[in-house]
Amino acid sequence: MRSNIPWLYLLSRRGWSVLGATSGDPASPYIRCSKDLQQESCSDPSGLCGAKNLRSVLEKREDSMFDGAMARIIKTAVIGAGPAGCVAAHEAARAGRKVVLFEKEKAVGGRTLTHRSGGHVLDTGAGFFTNFYPRLKSYNRALGLESDVVRLSRQNVLISDHRIAPLALGSPLSFFRFPLVGAADKIRMLGVTLGRTLRYRGVDLADPASLAALDTDSIARDARKFLGESVYQYLVRPGIEPFWYFSCEEVSKALYIGLQAKAADAVFFTYGSGMDSFCRKLAESVELRTGKSVTSIGEKPRGFSIRFSDDKEDFDEIILATTANVAAKLTAKLSESVVSANQKHFLQSQMYAANVIVSFRLPAGVLPDSDTRIPCGTGENPVAAITSNSDKRAGHSGEDLVSIYLRGDEAKKLLKSKQKEAFARALALARKVDSRLIKLPLEPFYMKQRENAIPVHSVGRYRQAATFLEEQSGPIVFAGDYLANATVEGAIHSAQSAVAALLKGAGLR
Ligand SMILES: Cc1cc2nc3c(=O)[nH]c(=O)nc-3n(C[C@H](O)[C@H](O)[C@H](O)COP(=O)(O)OP(=O)(O)OC[C@H]3O[C@@H](n4cnc5c(N)ncnc54)[C@H](O)[C@@H]3O)c2cc1C
Repeated sequence: MRSNIPWLYLLSRRGWSVLGATSGDPASPYIRCSKDLQQESCSDPSGLCGAKNLRSVLEKREDSMFDGAMARIIKTAVIGAGPAGCVAAHEAARAGRKVVLFEKEKAVGGRTLTHRSGGHVLDTGAGFFTNFYPRLKSYNRALGLESDVVRLSRQNVLISDHRIAPLALGSPLSFFRFPLVGAADKIRMLGVTLGRTLRYRGVDLADPASLAALDTDSIARDARKFLGESVYQYLVRPGIEPFWYFSCEEVSKALYIGLQAKAADAVFFTYGSGMDSFCRKLAESVELRTGKSVTSIGEKPRGFSIRFSDDKEDFDEIILATTANVAAKLTAKLSESVVSANQKHFLQSQMYAANVIVSFRLPAGVLPDSDTRIPCGTGENPVAAITSNSDKRAGHSGEDLVSIYLRGDEAKKLLKSKQKEAFARALALARKVDSRLIKLPLEPFYMKQRENAIPVHSVGRYRQAATFLEEQSGPIVFAGDYLANATVEGAIHSAQSAVAALLKGAGLR
């Protein structure tokens, strides 16, 4: 028996438009058909035909061609509509798949979600991209997003025991003036950075295969060995921990070396309309189902059955583009012929760093600087960063925003807290670091608690991820930043390689 979905898909590929279902029955939509078929299939001179009628005429005419096309149409479910899922869905559709993209939240974006309210456009997760995101750049061009790209000229201000130390990335003058590290350490840092820039500038930070050879030690051990304790505490840690929330003690030096090689000419950008614009644009090209949390995947003789929000549907292939813990749960009971024991082990063993962000409103201009304040020095530093004017596109609300990012144990403690408690605790911690906040009239605006904010790329993970990506093939594949680097660019790389693996394994079941 023929399914309706490929039939409608076939029609749309031939240029006929599906205008809507009659009495809610998807099996009989109205179709505007071509002139040559009007006489045979519909009485209405406008060309509006009932699909059943049109279908029977077409089937008589070109039955064999119809069957051939049916055989090629594969139905693919993509679970999770963050950057990895949206890119995977877009690419799978481009490869001819009939794609359904499931997202448990009300909107796409995942950890790039933007909160829009009261004239503010606040990024709740990813806030910027750089000039070393080549994949994102090429999507921006292809999707017509280039005109929305805004260059950021933000500078970091490091704070240690209330000493303020501005540091603009890529500015030699600001580096030489930086007061928290001595001249000899700076010269050593420059020498090592220059050497690594020359040697590793070709490293692809989003591709674990490119990082694998460097994945041999932690950032902390590498920095202490080659740069010294002072550079580690005042320059290396503040360049990593405030943005990724994990600890340099636990993460592979491959990340730091790759970043060091790109740092000299790094440029930062965002989307004027919010970081989730990328996902929103990509999701336009597929059938999107938001507010649908996938709860289980079952194996069938041919393909899979997916359960989601009191409903279920069959698919030929699945791309899991959630965080690793969700992917692990959804695939735990699947046979090893579709998800191997090694894959399951890798998914189950992925660790994440937590993050809590709280944002406050304040009158415009009260905090004139548009900077990111970063506590540094020895010890835990539970406040990762304090960003003033964190609504980077401000101007419509008559107000500014200041956001406080918490990491480590303090973030974990606040994961289940009520809003009021979390706002108060975050502000108290931030005021200890940044005395400007003590007297400001701050109004709570927005809070986001993420238990699984950033995958921890501990030593050896890039090597394991490279093997995972190389070995996976359809009909079930995985995408997500835990298989690359915790960036939008990393998520894109994982998605592109997941779709390539899917195409490689097509027809396995
Ligand atoms: C605070 C913060 C700041 C960051 N800053 C930056 C930055 O400045 N630049 C940068 O490049 N990166 C940044 N990142 C990292 C970046 O956001 C992530 O690397 C990227 O979003 C990962 O994309 P993903 O698609 O793998 O996962 P996600 O974005 O997490 O997407 C996964 C999606 O799956 C959905 N999902 C989960 N379970 C289900 C289910 N059962 N059914 C259906 N859907 C489900 C989720 O709701 C989510 O939408 C930041 C991250 C955080 C948390």
